[in-house]
Amino acid sequence: MEVLRGVHLIRGEVSNIYLIETGSGNILVDTGTPNDPEKILSYLRTYGLKIELIFVTHAHWDHVGGLKAVKEFTGARVATHVDEAPYIRGEKATRRRFEPVDVDVVLRDGDSVLGLTVIHTPGHTPGSSCLFDSERRMVAVGDLVYEEGGEVHEMLHQYSRDPYMNRESIAKLLLYDFDHLLPSHGNPVLRNGREKLKLLVESFRQPKS
Ligand SMILES: [Zn+2]
Repeated sequence: MEVLRGVHLIRGEVSNIYLIETGSGNILVDTGTPNDPEKILSYLRTYGLKIELIFVTHAHWDHVGGLKAVKEFTGARVATHVDEAPYIRGEKATRRRFEPVDVDVVLRDGDSVLGLTVIHTPGHTPGSSCLFDSERRMVAVGDLVYEEGGEVHEMLHQYSRDPYMNRESIAKLLLYDFDHLLPSHGNPVLRNGREKLKLLVESFRQPKS
């Protein structure tokens, strides 16, 4: 379904997959689990969409499980942050294994891909990154935060490599001007995404009762 003009949400079995149309080609953000490629490809066929690039937010099984199949079927290039690339290539081990895939485009903080900006937001994993679209005022955040009940929450600490670094990354995202926040788990937070993120950052400063 189209959640914003030219921004599609494909619901995977565990996580969300987004397709972002740009003037220079379409970007798929993550590829779900090994069971999701069929759903992704059928969505592409139904709407007559092609993808130029697959942006991988991070190398967790529910985001890259479908990567090999989607890359093979679409011929799209795979792009990810330099600190995440070794996990995707299988040079470094992850908790839950998936089929390794070669990375074609290695990214750094502030890089531009098809007109969108890469924001390095480490913590959940070393190379976790967000993709910021200044024109649409939206950001795809991977597992930096998730949505539930209209609010944004940090991942359970046990799922993140360094949850406190992740908090710093959440605060870093407030430096960007956006309205819509697209998480990998839960619903897109449209219009007040940045406000909701700010509430979360403020909650980090409250002493625990
Ligand atoms: Zn994750």
